[in-house]
Amino acid sequence: MNKQGSLICLNCEADNQLNAHTCCQCGQSLAASRTYYYLDLTDADIINGRYDHARSNMTRADVEMLALSSEQRKRYLLTARAFWLQSQIYYYKGYIDEAHAELLLALQNLEDQAGGERLLANVLNSLGNVEFYHANPEAAAIYYQHSSEVALQVGEHSAAAKAMGNLGLILSDTGRMDEALTWYRRSLEQAEQSGESLRLAEAYRLIAGFYAHEGPYNLAIDYTNKSLALRGQIADQASACRITSEAGEVYLNYRDLEQAETCLKEAQEIAHRTGYKLMQVTNLTVLAELMRLKGSSEAWFDYANRAFNQVGSVLSARSGAALQLVMYYISEQNWIYVRKYMQMLEEAVSDSSAYTERINLHRAQALLHSAMEQWDEAERRFTTAIDLIRSSHDSYRLADLQEDYAAMLLQHAAAEPDPTIYDRARATLEEIAITFRNLEMPLRLASVEARLAQMAASPQPQAMT
Ligand SMILES: [Zn+2]
Repeated sequence: MNKQGSLICLNCEADNQLNAHTCCQCGQSLAASRTYYYLDLTDADIINGRYDHARSNMTRADVEMLALSSEQRKRYLLTARAFWLQSQIYYYKGYIDEAHAELLLALQNLEDQAGGERLLANVLNSLGNVEFYHANPEAAAIYYQHSSEVALQVGEHSAAAKAMGNLGLILSDTGRMDEALTWYRRSLEQAEQSGESLRLAEAYRLIAGFYAHEGPYNLAIDYTNKSLALRGQIADQASACRITSEAGEVYLNYRDLEQAETCLKEAQEIAHRTGYKLMQVTNLTVLAELMRLKGSSEAWFDYANRAFNQVGSVLSARSGAALQLVMYYISEQNWIYVRKYMQMLEEAVSDSSAYTERINLHRAQALLHSAMEQWDEAERRFTTAIDLIRSSHDSYRLADLQEDYAAMLLQHAAAEPDPTIYDRARATLEEIAITFRNLEMPLRLASVEARLAQMAASPQPQAMT
């Protein structure tokens, strides 16, 4: 990195004035050095979450690059790095397709380039992210795997940690939880070797996510707190935002709503200040869920609507926001809007979409059919979603969705008194209670047990004769 206001010659490393044309020591042109300097500034802007400022430094780098021969640009990896940095600006602002195009150009410019391994590992990792958002988990996994191999070959522990963590996330999203944990642990090893707080915090965040789905939940809380404790040492705003937002979600699912709200609002401040669109979508969606649970109807709608309307982000990333809006409009019995968001959700999510997006779709459909008292259809949708979650061994999500399913069964039993439906509701609640007990989530367990106690106290509905 260059010092502020001075220009290091790439040829002899002499310190030059920023406006100098040739090096004071070796006499060579400083155009390449100045390009490098502006790319460094762009990089620092991206880390600090100043994406618009990054764009103006990138323009300066582009202007300097015009004076360079293609050999000069290649030698210092200037072209490849410029494409990579531009892709990052697009990515954080939520323009996934544009980021993809820049990444492919960066990749082209890195072929057979000695010394470009770290950059190559980062480019491959980002291509994995793009494939993830394009609902191609297989392709994403291949990129992450390749990225981790390139990084390991040259001892780039930080880049290896990043790719391995992402590989774990893809595996957990396709239901291979045990393999996911193996990769999270490898990611943590690499993070420890890198000595970077950012990588350690990210590795803790991923492991926390694993325990938040598989239990015991106290480990999810422990790893979350370890990750939060490192935030003060992390310059990278995108990373600080992710860590804080996911901590909010871990606390929310535990039903520590106060701690959840603190984290989610802090994450929202970072996401809003930087303009990190994908995180705004995710974080606003979790805030919407928090407000739904708190019964704050206006704030619920406001957050869900803002999440859905983040311009530039891909529709599949907004499936959680669409689900919240479907739920909100069901609660308002505004069927025109329910159908509007339902339709968008159906268009955005396909069979090849990530598991989370597919569950969002099934859940929205199931809730809509329940609200319309179309019991058979509701049953079918819930069963599809429940089977999908069972096949992935995601205990938390299973119990969470089964709570909605049990509620639907109780509504059905109330509308059409039938002891077999009532019994199914009770059996489902009993299964949920076992799951929450195994996950060690006392507040969630208590609320299910209260419902079971209520059922035991009130008489079972009788079949019509
Ligand atoms: Zn020089």
